[in-house]
Amino acid sequence: MSDVWNRGAAAVATLTFDVDAESAILARGGTYADHAMTMSHQAYGPDVGVPRLLDLLDEFDIPATFFVPGWVAQQRPGLAARIVERGHEVAHHSYSHRPPTTMSEAEEQADFERALDVFAAQDIEILGHRAALWEATAHTLDLVAQHSLLYDSSLMGDDRPYRVATANRGEIAELPVHWSLDDWEQYAFLPDPHVGSVIESPAKVLDMWCAELDAMRHYRCLFNLTCHPFLSGRPSRAMALRRLIEFALQRGDVTFARCGDVARWAMDTPELPVRGLTPPPTLHFA
Ligand SMILES: [Zn+2]
Repeated sequence: MSDVWNRGAAAVATLTFDVDAESAILARGGTYADHAMTMSHQAYGPDVGVPRLLDLLDEFDIPATFFVPGWVAQQRPGLAARIVERGHEVAHHSYSHRPPTTMSEAEEQADFERALDVFAAQDIEILGHRAALWEATAHTLDLVAQHSLLYDSSLMGDDRPYRVATANRGEIAELPVHWSLDDWEQYAFLPDPHVGSVIESPAKVLDMWCAELDAMRHYRCLFNLTCHPFLSGRPSRAMALRRLIEFALQRGDVTFARCGDVARWAMDTPELPVRGLTPPPTLHFA
């Protein structure tokens, strides 16, 4: 395997923060807007979690990527610009946080382009995309390529970057994710809407993520961590992230990078596999 995409590091770590705020809940129904507790649980992300996490990243001088729904950027003018000013990347995370699998192609295109319009109006350069709930379709990847973005980060077909051949728009980079490197499965607890019912020990999560990073160093992978500021911005969880960063730095062979940088490195590596998006044939039971 070529070392071009990882610039010689044993593992590349992309710390990513999905700044869903209220959109992740309102996408399930507008009536939740009147649920003050639930809205405050979500607002904690951009209001408390993001500033705390930005300070943490500053302390270690580590670049990261923040996937922001267009609606969130619109509701909080200056949020995306503040993230970019601190040296990080802001990336596309839909407009309304509705998953592509629940929308028609026309609805998805309108939602996708509405987010791009918000970021263009705020003068925020967008290089990549992550589908809401990671629920991308082949059409999603087409939209990413059609709008000349470099990468998507919603699929799970590898543990290193790969190249995706879209239907008509050429190749983009895919920076794959996985449930095991997502704080949602560890920390999400909300009774209504029911989005999760776990509050794991940050010590357990740190142990799991450090083990994965070590294994990924062995296999020379992309450690693409997905965190949500309303979850991982909470104190003991932010401290676990701090210890994870310290662990990675102590290993001495882990490179932290923004997703856009890794996507460029991936597209400069012709040896990376190219995978198509053709769905498998229908499986007939009789
Ligand atoms: Zn999200």
